[in-house]
Amino acid sequence: MSHSPLPETERTRHRRLREQGSRDRAQLDAILAAGFVCHLGVVVDGCPMVVPTVYGADGTNLYFHGSVASRSLVASPDALVCVTVTHVDGLVLSRSVFEHGVNYRSAMVYGVPRLVTDPAEKLAGLRLLTEQSAPGQWDYARRPDRKELAATALLALPLDEASVKIRVGPPDDGDGPDAGLDVWAGVLPMSAVFGEPEADPALREGIALPAHIAARRG
Ligand SMILES: Cc1cc2nc3c(=O)[nH]c(=O)nc-3n(C[C@H](O)[C@H](O)[C@H](O)COP(=O)(O)OP(=O)(O)OC[C@H]3O[C@@H](n4cnc5c(N)ncnc54)[C@H](O)[C@@H]3O)c2cc1C
Repeated sequence: MSHSPLPETERTRHRRLREQGSRDRAQLDAILAAGFVCHLGVVVDGCPMVVPTVYGADGTNLYFHGSVASRSLVASPDALVCVTVTHVDGLVLSRSVFEHGVNYRSAMVYGVPRLVTDPAEKLAGLRLLTEQSAPGQWDYARRPDRKELAATALLALPLDEASVKIRVGPPDDGDGPDAGLDVWAGVLPMSAVFGEPEADPALREGIALPAHIAARRG
């Protein structure tokens, strides 16, 4: 894991809303650690595809997986991809709709993913990916067998070329001409939380909810 600032490349140079941009690698790591769904953008046969997919990140690579038959994953092995991760923290309701916005933390990562073929790295990457969304499940549930591993493609995208943008705080029009309007303005905070676990109707009797899943509700 590197602690140097995120290098600015021609692709990752913030242009618009630059004040929301950051080169802080710790913020990139925090944004990636706070989620488990990314959007993978790739051009396949000349057509852009943006594929939502789960991921795991370890500060050096972002791992994502899918079927070996997946076009977005393996059809263009040398293709440049752009992966985004977004967290919405609130709606920014300004006095004018033009100034409405979103409080957010987002990351974009560019690179050419590497197909992971080393069996140890593949298993470690799949573990990371599983544990990022469902901590404790790797040691609790059945792990992939040889056939399942063969059917799964795992890709590693280096976190070398990445950018971060973060918006926090109230609306921007509190000191402008619209501040005189009789319109409520402020932030409507938003967060994603897990609900009450719902047992599979087919679950055999006597199987208790494990603590690592129970702990995540709310
Ligand atoms: C939930 C959400 C809603 C948004 N809604 C709007 C909206 O309605 N209108 C609007 O103008 N903008 C919105 N933004 C901001 C938007 O994502 C872009 O940052 C902004 O529009 C600048 O776009 P651009 O094409 O000019 O990018 P540029 O500034 O040209 O992008 C240059 C480089 O900056 C980096 N970059 C740009 N945007 C981001 C980002 N969001 N996260 C990480 N790195 C980034 C990338 O590396 C990119 O290649 C929203 C962001 C989020 C997360």
